[in-house]
Amino acid sequence: MANATLTIDLEAIALNWRALDRLSGPGVQTAGVVKADAYGLGAGRVARALAQAGARRFFVALAEEGAAVRQALGPGPQINILSGHMPGDTEMIHDLDLTPMLNSLEQITRHLEALPGAPFGVQLDTGMNRLGLEMVEWQAVAPILIEAGPVMVMSHLACADEPDHPMNLRQLQTFHEMTDGIGLPRSLAATGGIMLGPQYHFDLTRPGIGLYGGRPFDTAERVVSLSLPVIQTREVAPGEAVGYSCAWEAEGPAVIATVAAGYADGLPRTLSNRAMLWDRDIPCPLVGRVSMDLITVDVTHLPEVPRTLDILGPYQSPDDLADAAGTISYEILTSLGARYARRYQERRG
Ligand SMILES: *Cc1c(COP(=O)(O)O)cnc(C)c1O
Repeated sequence: MANATLTIDLEAIALNWRALDRLSGPGVQTAGVVKADAYGLGAGRVARALAQAGARRFFVALAEEGAAVRQALGPGPQINILSGHMPGDTEMIHDLDLTPMLNSLEQITRHLEALPGAPFGVQLDTGMNRLGLEMVEWQAVAPILIEAGPVMVMSHLACADEPDHPMNLRQLQTFHEMTDGIGLPRSLAATGGIMLGPQYHFDLTRPGIGLYGGRPFDTAERVVSLSLPVIQTREVAPGEAVGYSCAWEAEGPAVIATVAAGYADGLPRTLSNRAMLWDRDIPCPLVGRVSMDLITVDVTHLPEVPRTLDILGPYQSPDDLADAAGTISYEILTSLGARYARRYQERRG
């Protein structure tokens, strides 16, 4: 039996980065966000593909993730740590030349005392209330910090995936108030912010989900496909039930394929009775509950039972699957299981 196979199209990721770089506009640098193992797709492989496409600046969440990316890329590219300089990370930040985005007075003190002269950026809170210096803190330390020469000053938008949300303009205005005239490179936009238009782009954009084919970058190339093996089929009589809690009942004679992946492989249990799998271009409904390692699929209408069924691919994106599960593509991608065989496609055939 074939393994469940997750195929990651590195060429599509490179094309998406170039497209987002063009959208970012002339004179604006485009970074690549590869936190959480590049949204579950493999930080080393993805970072190398982005570097080949032209990316020179990368963002991760944690210093450990930065270490993995440095190992993949070697010296040169700038690797930024969004969670900043955390206790215990000083040696790694120094030895691997990582650039923390300092987000509190405590982190600023830690960094300037432990690694004077080492690169850093500053993260400002323009209204998301999650990370970064607030206005009064920034006003207090800005004169000293600007003197120390941060590589950039950045902030993050809370509602950029909703273009008409009033929060976007409010944060933009606050970012201007906090940073106009400081003479340092500035960054505000992730994927959603790039879509909002050039006034949000400043000097550096930081796309993540758009690289991996997710909304709101609607013209993205498809990046992932996930093909699951059929391990058994069952003929079910009308009135018989399938799976835990008898959550699905056959109305007529049915052929049910049992497929080897479940919620332990990142297929949310909320997909029970709600998702489609695909035999090439033919949709086949997932029936009954998603169990830990298995799902059951109605293939009654297929001329013959295929060896595999696709749950991600040309006819179903991570966003489509997320909609069916009641979540977002970020969560679908970062949940992709460790049991899949991973295939990296370098070039289109
Ligand atoms: C995750 C993240 C990004 C990338 O966001 P996407 O919506 O995936 O493009 C950029 N900046 C910060 C601070 C982030 O946390």
